[in-house]
Amino acid sequence: MRISQETISQVKAYKGIVEIISSYITLKKRGRHFIGLCPFHSERTPSFTVSQDKNLFYCFGCQESGDSISFLMKMDHIGFAEAVQVIAKKANIPIIEDQHHYQGIVESEKEALFKLQFEVREYFKQALQQSPLALEYLYSRGLTQETIAHFHLGFSPPRVDLSQQLKKMGFSIEIQKKSGLFYLDQMNQLSNRFSNRIIFPILDHLGRTCGFGGRLFQTQSGAKYINSEENDIFNKRRILYGFNLAKKVLSKTPAILVEGYLDVILLHQYGFSQAVATMGTAVSSEQVQRLKNMTQTVYMAMDNDDAGQSAIEKSYDIFRRYQMMMYVLSLQKKDPADFLKSFGKDAFADLLQEAMPMVTFLLNRALSKYEVSRLENIEKILSEVLPALQVETDVILLDKYVSDISKLLGINSELLMAKIKKSRYTPNSVISTIYSNTKKSKLVLAEEFLISESVSNLERRKQLLATYTENLFFSENAKRLGTYLSNSLQTNQDFLLEIDDHALKSYLSKLMLETESDASGLAFVECLKTLKSYQLDQRIDDIKKQLAKIEKQEKTREVEEALISLMIELQALKEQKNI
Ligand SMILES: [Zn+2]
Repeated sequence: MRISQETISQVKAYKGIVEIISSYITLKKRGRHFIGLCPFHSERTPSFTVSQDKNLFYCFGCQESGDSISFLMKMDHIGFAEAVQVIAKKANIPIIEDQHHYQGIVESEKEALFKLQFEVREYFKQALQQSPLALEYLYSRGLTQETIAHFHLGFSPPRVDLSQQLKKMGFSIEIQKKSGLFYLDQMNQLSNRFSNRIIFPILDHLGRTCGFGGRLFQTQSGAKYINSEENDIFNKRRILYGFNLAKKVLSKTPAILVEGYLDVILLHQYGFSQAVATMGTAVSSEQVQRLKNMTQTVYMAMDNDDAGQSAIEKSYDIFRRYQMMMYVLSLQKKDPADFLKSFGKDAFADLLQEAMPMVTFLLNRALSKYEVSRLENIEKILSEVLPALQVETDVILLDKYVSDISKLLGINSELLMAKIKKSRYTPNSVISTIYSNTKKSKLVLAEEFLISESVSNLERRKQLLATYTENLFFSENAKRLGTYLSNSLQTNQDFLLEIDDHALKSYLSKLMLETESDASGLAFVECLKTLKSYQLDQRIDDIKKQLAKIEKQEKTREVEEALISLMIELQALKEQKNI
């Protein structure tokens, strides 16, 4: 499906940028604008600014900017057409299709995948109501009928050919193969990997069903939990189970991070609707960023076993890198679901109250293992706490931890601080240097190729001159040749004859010798794009510098207006770049 220009214009005119961005980050009104912590770079004080009337956002920290469409594209790693669709749905704008417009191509396969997941979910839900055993299991875990409906829980009946069912609904074998629901059996037929399991549909942050978790509930062989295979719409690193529900309260309350689907579900049932879970893996930077956009603090309520404890340790570094505070709950029972069932809501609220900052948690754990009065244990205790101290970048917090720990262990705080700093990780700048070098040489190559092709081929020259401006090339020689090309109808040797400067002539000759021609013209278009895009980047940088300057000035009416008009030009340039 292609989206018509008309729909795109309506979406662009829709004044809902604050509402759209608010479902990702917490925004506060300040003056005529809204501000919040930037989701695209790590910051402590808000510099991410949204203008409702201009349908624009701009970050004074990292200079990221755009409209609601580009915001969604960047946040959700989705294409232009999908972002347009998401907004159209939200704004009740009818999506009109168009066969001619290139820009509006939708990844129709993604759409079909979402549709398939939804239909399968509804099918599993019905099947659950017809399976007393599966229902009984869920009730026995403490779930109510309302909760089961709220989370769209289901059951995948055995001895049903799910692929056949889907075929009847009109889903091709090709799309079924990509759905993540099947594996190929010995007969090379699609076999339902979730057969005879309780089904936990997994919804993405926009509330679209994108995959499933399945749990064994009878004595059967196989893994207790399995998930859909990953595909274009189901990426475990990007998804937090329960986030589509939790995001409604996360701007007002810290998040609770747990391990299992049932933990999330029961916490929500008991009123803790800020609970979310990772997909059975260690927390990823994408997941932390998602949480950080809504809240500054996370409470870890992991299982009270080795896997759970190691998940806590692995997560700390990444939460601190995103400057989130992390507290750890100490669960007596195996997991939060069991805890709630045994002790109830108030007891869990008490656990949250008593939660410890990570460093305190590690210290207490070490102190319970090693007798602090024995000298040989000091080193052991320190080694358990050091990893958490090394990643601490907040100097005030670090100072507080160091002074507390040195008092407790009876050691010199300056020596402890020195030990932390010595073992600290330092990022290297080598990668960025290499990157900037290759970037430059790519530009030089593009420039040389364009010139050489335009000298030998008049068609290409026409193509170049159609959009040529003086600052398209950046080397002095190339600029001068650009002028010659604009004024000449000669090719190759005849063209060379027109150049009277000896040095320039030899530069061009060498370049023509070294450059291999491309008959298809594709490389030419590619190089032209590269330079155009660089040219636009230069102008964008220029504007960003001006914006940064303006930001420091007092906000008079004129300054505000200059600011807005620069933001608009920046947005227009970015759109040009995307075409
Ligand atoms: Zn930013």
